[in-house]
Parts: sequence; structure tokens; C-alpha cells
Amino acid sequence: MAWSFPPPTYGLTVASREERFPIRRIFCIGRNYAEHAQEMGAVPERTHPFFFQKSPEAVLAQPHAGAVLSLCYPSATQDLQHEAELVVALGQGGREIAPEQAVQHIFGYAIGLDMTRRDLQAALKERRLPWDMAKNFEDAAPIGLLHPIAHTGELCQGEITLTVNGVCRQRGRLEEMIWSVNEIIAELSRLVTLLPGDLLFTGTPAGVGPLRCPDHVCVTLEPLGTLEVTVQDGQGHYARRFG
Ligand code: MN
Repeated sequence: MAWSFPPPTYGLTVASREERFPIRRIFCIGRNYAEHAQEMGAVPERTHPFFFQKSPEAVLAQPHAGAVLSLCYPSATQDLQHEAELVVALGQGGREIAPEQAVQHIFGYAIGLDMTRRDLQAALKERRLPWDMAKNFEDAAPIGLLHPIAHTGELCQGEITLTVNGVCRQRGRLEEMIWSVNEIIAELSRLVTLLPGDLLFTGTPAGVGPLRCPDHVCVTLEPLGTLEVTVQDGQGHYARRFG
């Protein structure tokens, strides 16, 4: 039977392969670096990790090596903020995955930005309401090329930095994560059955801050290279296509 309209497909370009990785769900962990938890007014803790989600429609994917992404400043905020993060892509699903087995589920890694309407998030937090609209909107998830773990090896350490117009704003190390990638996969797999195509945003180091048009953002994470994004006025790529 025919589809009522073409079924949506969302994907990431796989580095140095003629291949696209289909995106299923996007899970993000909150407050996974102690100094960032503190700058958000929280006490860093290792009792319960917490998660929120973005939709595949929020992804702004880098089409090919060297491409600079144009991120459109969203509606309903005066305080759009950057959060530089390691993104982990799962090639294999599962439930109740043991941390020691988690690495076998990883397809690869990418550089990502967890874009946040911080003013809206603060207002929602104060009213104890869900944050979805602060985190899940058009262009809220810029993501670079996906590097297969077969090429990079397991990423447990390394520096992640973010500059805005050449000035360093965020600098952290993957080994500073409160919950490691393997622990994140294990914890999530107790809450939901993980599936191939799921993406995990693994948290941001301290130094999050506001962006304006026409800021130029560079996120660097060895050995994944650099993701470049410019912030522009106008409508996001889905609005331009479907709006
Ligand atoms: Mn984040």
C-alpha cells in the first residue's frame, strides 16, 4: 500500500564512506559535567542521571566534510545558548545492557550542539513544567559528520572546545563526565529498549552562553575534527522546505 506522503527520513553523513546513518531517536543527558551543573545552579550528583529528548526534525546535519552549517535563530527566545557535546550513535539496540558490553552497541561518534532556549528553560523550570520547548525546536541539534568507531577506536578521553568568533567559551575533557558513555548507554537501556539509529548527546562542559547573529561557532573534538556553525536570521531548514 502507498504511503500518504513520502515517509520522513533523517540521517547523518558517515565520514569517509558512501553511506548515510538513519536517525531514530535522540536522547540527551543533563548535567553530566560537574562545573556545568554548578553554573546551572545545581549540585553535581551521581545518584540518578536524567534524560530529555530531541526530535530527528531538530537535527541540522553536516552534509559533507568542510561544510559550514547555517543555524537559524529560533522564535520565542532572547537567549539562545550553545552546549558543545560528544554525540554517540548506536548501531545496535538492546535492553538492560551492561556497561562492560555497551561499547559493542556504538556505531560511531560526532560533534554536536545541544542548542537551548535558556530563558524559556528557566521560566519552565521555575514553574516545574517540562522543558521540551526549550530543547526541541528547529535547528536545535546541529551535528557534524559521523565517524565510525572502527576508525576512531573507543572515545573515553580527549578535549572538547567551543569558540565563538575565535574566543574560547567552553573547554572540557571527556574523562570529566559524571556518567561515562558506557554508563549512559547502560542506564538508558534500563529505561527504554535502545534501537539502532538512536543518538545520545552526552552532556556539555562549563561555559555555556548566548549566541547572536551572525556569530561563528567552532566546536573541536579530537579525533573528530571541527564543526563550524554560523547563526543567522530567518527560518530553519525545515521551515524553508515545508513551511
Ligand atoms: Mn546538553
